[in-house]
Amino acid sequence: MNADSGFARYARPELARLLRALRLDVTYLAGQGDHLTQALRDAEGHADAEGQVLDLVGGAGSSLFGHNHPALLEVARRCFDEQIPFNAQASVRHGAGELAQRLSAVVGATTGASYVVTLGCSGAEAVEGAVKHATVEHRRRLGVLQEDVEVSLRRVRRDGLADVPCASGPGVGRTCAELLDETLDRIAELRRTDPVFVALRNAFHGKTAGAGTLTHGGNVPADLKVPGPRHRRLDDWTPQAVVTALDSERVPVHLIRVDAAGVPHSAVRWLSPVAACFVEPVQGESGVHEVPAETLAALRELADRHEAALVFDEIQCGMGRTGNFLASEGSGVIADYYLFSKSLGGGLAKISALLVDANRYVPEFGRHHTSTFADDDFSSRIATAAVDLALAHSDRIVEIGALLRDRLAEVAARWPDAVVEVRGRGLLLGVEFSLPQPDSGLLREVFDSESLGYLIAGRLLHTHRIRVIPTLSAPTTVRVEPSALLERADVDRIAAAFDDVAALLSRGDYTTLLDHLTVPPAGAWQPPQHVPLPRRDRAVLHSGSRAGVPRVAFLANMDVPSKLWHMAPELADWSDAQCEAVLDRMWGELDPFEVTRHRVTSETRGEVEVVMVAAPFTAAQANAALRAGEGAWLRRTVLDAVELGVSLGAGVIGLGGHTSIVTNAARDVVESDIRVTSGNSLTAACAYDLVRLQLAESGVGERRVGLVGAIGNIGAVMAELIAPHCDSMVLVGRPGSARRLAAVAERLTAHQVDVLIAEDLHELRDCPVVVSATNSADPVILPNHLVGDRKALVCDLAVPGDVHPAVASLANVTLVSGGRIQLPGMQTPHFPGITLPPGILYSCMAETMLLGLEPETPSRSYGGLTSAGVLAARDLAVRHGFQPARIVSDDVSVQPWIVDQFSSLEEQIG
Ligand code: PMP
Repeated sequence: MNADSGFARYARPELARLLRALRLDVTYLAGQGDHLTQALRDAEGHADAEGQVLDLVGGAGSSLFGHNHPALLEVARRCFDEQIPFNAQASVRHGAGELAQRLSAVVGATTGASYVVTLGCSGAEAVEGAVKHATVEHRRRLGVLQEDVEVSLRRVRRDGLADVPCASGPGVGRTCAELLDETLDRIAELRRTDPVFVALRNAFHGKTAGAGTLTHGGNVPADLKVPGPRHRRLDDWTPQAVVTALDSERVPVHLIRVDAAGVPHSAVRWLSPVAACFVEPVQGESGVHEVPAETLAALRELADRHEAALVFDEIQCGMGRTGNFLASEGSGVIADYYLFSKSLGGGLAKISALLVDANRYVPEFGRHHTSTFADDDFSSRIATAAVDLALAHSDRIVEIGALLRDRLAEVAARWPDAVVEVRGRGLLLGVEFSLPQPDSGLLREVFDSESLGYLIAGRLLHTHRIRVIPTLSAPTTVRVEPSALLERADVDRIAAAFDDVAALLSRGDYTTLLDHLTVPPAGAWQPPQHVPLPRRDRAVLHSGSRAGVPRVAFLANMDVPSKLWHMAPELADWSDAQCEAVLDRMWGELDPFEVTRHRVTSETRGEVEVVMVAAPFTAAQANAALRAGEGAWLRRTVLDAVELGVSLGAGVIGLGGHTSIVTNAARDVVESDIRVTSGNSLTAACAYDLVRLQLAESGVGERRVGLVGAIGNIGAVMAELIAPHCDSMVLVGRPGSARRLAAVAERLTAHQVDVLIAEDLHELRDCPVVVSATNSADPVILPNHLVGDRKALVCDLAVPGDVHPAVASLANVTLVSGGRIQLPGMQTPHFPGITLPPGILYSCMAETMLLGLEPETPSRSYGGLTSAGVLAARDLAVRHGFQPARIVSDDVSVQPWIVDQFSSLEEQIG
């Protein structure tokens, strides 16, 4: 097993799948400054060369000094040379002390305060530390107050004032004891409730349980959020709204002051469960948004109003990334806690720091809050050097950042319909792209808001050798976070690359934009391993069947790869091989999507709206997945498509192509108010009609039918239906299928027909009539199986076809595509991917429409088919003027159903 598959299998399966789908599954071997060395692969996927990539991801903001900065490497080397102990917990640690002192001084130079610094290993750990410290601080403050009030109560009692009413203040007229008892009750109540933490809309503070609660959205499935501390989110950032946002949480308590004359007066103090307010002065992961200085000031006021700590999360925006050491510096607002991480580690160490204003610090916190790797000398020394680098590069960051921003803004101005905005400051920039609106449903599914930034990243990487990724919780924004070492020439290169992408988006040139995906993926496809998300409650349906025209959804898997352009005409220029490569990549990453919708009118009554929904896999992929034992995954994909159909208001779900096969002939689709059909009864009915006509015209001894795929759902019912009309029947199956074929033959004994079982397709040579209905993705009946003098009618019911196209050119063979139907009145709705002559559709699709036209008629194509069901489906088609079509090459002939002499058969069989 190579390292790639180790990552995909044992480390991050889902991420590896996503990277493979987007062709971002690259490996970097080395990094220096703003450049990474990428391992390039040969056609077999083996690394065989190296290429240089300009890195704008910058370690998600951690590489302000690039990769492997020489000054920081030197510090690291010295640590190794000196063999400083990595582990020396519970000792006096000089490195940590020096770093803490330095951070306190640097931040203090702006704020005028002094800080106690708690070191940790990650950004989220600093956030957790702040949550904990604020909690302790909050509780201690309530504890101190409680003690004061208890003393106050004892004092008024001692001094005989307990029952004396207050002379002034909000509690005027009420006695001292009464007021203080009430105050103690309220404090006790507050001490029992959990503290509340405040964060802003679109905030990002990390992904651990507590920090994850403060993070908004963060592109995380709802059930991956652990219930963390109580929190409130501020959606409205206007200063007035912020200041008063939590007023309802405040609780008034009365305190007593006794004047020199011994007269008690009351005063009010407001208490609150709010322990801290968190804010990133520049929000990074939500797409790079500056929080206005007025909002920061309002947050300061809010925190003061609740005696809460104001926490500036400068993990991404601080440490000099915007030029100033503190991104908040320009606002003039001073926080109580500051958080740093990311670039604090200089790109070499994992470290974070929580700075707490020394006046608020609770000393016990530092005794009880531990983290094994915190305070190590290695990380601390590197971080101290990194702080120096940040200060030294401040002017350069401002200068190169402004240049880069201006150049990107020019791109935005040139392509206003592709780029929404360029935001940010210094070297924390974001370029927001608008979501393109391709014509095809397939491309709209490909370009959703989650994937746009990653598709752009692929183009930039493979065409321009520039590495970007989107911001985590706003993936239509591409982050641009280079290092302070960025060269002017790099700025030109970046601007040109963004210009290219914006131009392609603006022109809708998806063929070029996605060209990088048409290279065959390296490594085998791994099916998704994840447990699917719990379903949300179903949206209330505005089902078509209740409001006007009934609506049905017809589900079909995608066509063969070479026909990708049916689903996405925008990609018509791609070769078959390119289409195949893209579908192989994207397999399992696309969700079902609506392809198109049309209305179809009955000849006799009413109309129906048909929504075509694509299940995003091909027949070949479905078969491969079934062989690999991945049926559950396929089924899930189809159920997702069903869900989409239901949410679109369909009263009938039709399962076309492989969607019925992978759901066990529709049985696995369990719905209550919706009819589900595989449409196979009508498919069988059409073929039955065709074969019967042929047999009726054949002489005795000529009525020998070869049936391929008789163990399948359609094949089995065809055998039953045809048996009474023929003299002999050959059931042909794959090697090893004889036993199951014998079971089918067993059921035919009543019809007094000779049944032969064969595992060799050459047995078809003696059959004037051949019917085929297998699930194979590839043709199974080849010319050599049929070549000879005997004339044969071959009816192919399978989609994709079972019969090799070359069979059609055999002189003795008439090849008819079975299971085709003509709509009444030559209606010709166009369904992409269905390449049938005008007015002709697959019978399974027609059965879905017909059920839509008759809301009371039950589905007869759910689970195993029956002869009675097939005939009922035929009668349904008769009632609405849908006629079976006989298609030989390009010739279409329609013949009326043979209803009269056989309509009694239904009763006979049923
Ligand atoms: N806060 C902010 C502002 C961040 O940007 C991040 C990381 N993107 C974090 C906290 C969490 O840091 P970490 O991933 O190291 O836990």
